[in-house]
Amino acid sequence: MMNAYTLKAPAKINLLLEIIGDRPDGFHELVMVLQSISLADVVELQYLGGDRIQLHCNHPQVPCDQTNLAHRAARLMQKQFPGKGGVAITIDKKIPIGAGLAGGSADAAAVLVGLDLMWNLGLTQTELQSYAAQLGSDIPFCISGGTALALGRGEELTPLPDLDQLYAVLAKYRSLSVATPWAYQTYRQQFSAAYARDSIALERRRREGHSVALLGAITHRDPLQVPQYLYNDLEKVVLPQYPQVQHLRDQLQALGVLGSMMSGSGPTVFGLTETRSQAEQIALQLQTALPDPDLEILVTKFCSSGIQLL
Ligand code: ATP
Repeated sequence: MMNAYTLKAPAKINLLLEIIGDRPDGFHELVMVLQSISLADVVELQYLGGDRIQLHCNHPQVPCDQTNLAHRAARLMQKQFPGKGGVAITIDKKIPIGAGLAGGSADAAAVLVGLDLMWNLGLTQTELQSYAAQLGSDIPFCISGGTALALGRGEELTPLPDLDQLYAVLAKYRSLSVATPWAYQTYRQQFSAAYARDSIALERRRREGHSVALLGAITHRDPLQVPQYLYNDLEKVVLPQYPQVQHLRDQLQALGVLGSMMSGSGPTVFGLTETRSQAEQIALQLQTALPDPDLEILVTKFCSSGIQLL
């Protein structure tokens, strides 16, 4: 048994997030298209005897106790596979937190994949993803990564052809974060009258909704069409609440990106480009247009993999 593993845990952006109904479990029925990007945390796992779980993260706002999603992932694995040992988890945080980029979910996914290796469990991807779904809706996707259609709460995944030639300029105000539950609850308060009420209506929304054009572009391997069909229902509640995020998105659009959108529940917005040099140029122009030390701008590339062993 090897006793140390280092894993790369990529962030995701939502190319599409459509809310189509309520679920009996209190979550929403979603249609999402998720995309891994090159921005990633690095998660290191080290074997510990007994059943101790230790966690360290270099970002002061990330909790290091049992509320950390990576800690919860380790605890779940210990419950499923008692007696396998403890683990020391070290997270090198690169993904902005509370950003709509699934940073916590990516860390948890890395722990599931890493403990499967460390404990020699031989779990299939499907088995790992079913544990992941118990911890959070975005975690199954973070394991497999790439480009995927996600239905249900986000855990019913269908892989899609790679889009890995596109670049995304990310922009986020460091001091701003959006609580995902707030965004969904506010959406429900304002828009639930339009939700699909039964399984037939849900199915129709899945087949005829905003995803149709985007999925067409992806399956026809037409990446340059993709930015035209970006869609996110949560913009309707987050952008009015945070005018500076709306402004950021407008600025990106004005600088000539192929398309711009808020990711997940925000407040990160992204703009898509065809080449790295275009992305770098737009990042620079955005910084010049909005000179604010609180504004974090990152150039990233779409990537086709989820959790990877380094
Ligand atoms: P999502 O897109 O899944 O909603 P997010 O980017 O909006 O993710 P995260 O950065 O994953 O949000 O985390 C939001 C909150 O969860 C943070 O404020 C933090 O307190 C808590 N948290 C728990 N575990 C982690 C972790 N490993 N990394 C970052 N935040 C974590």
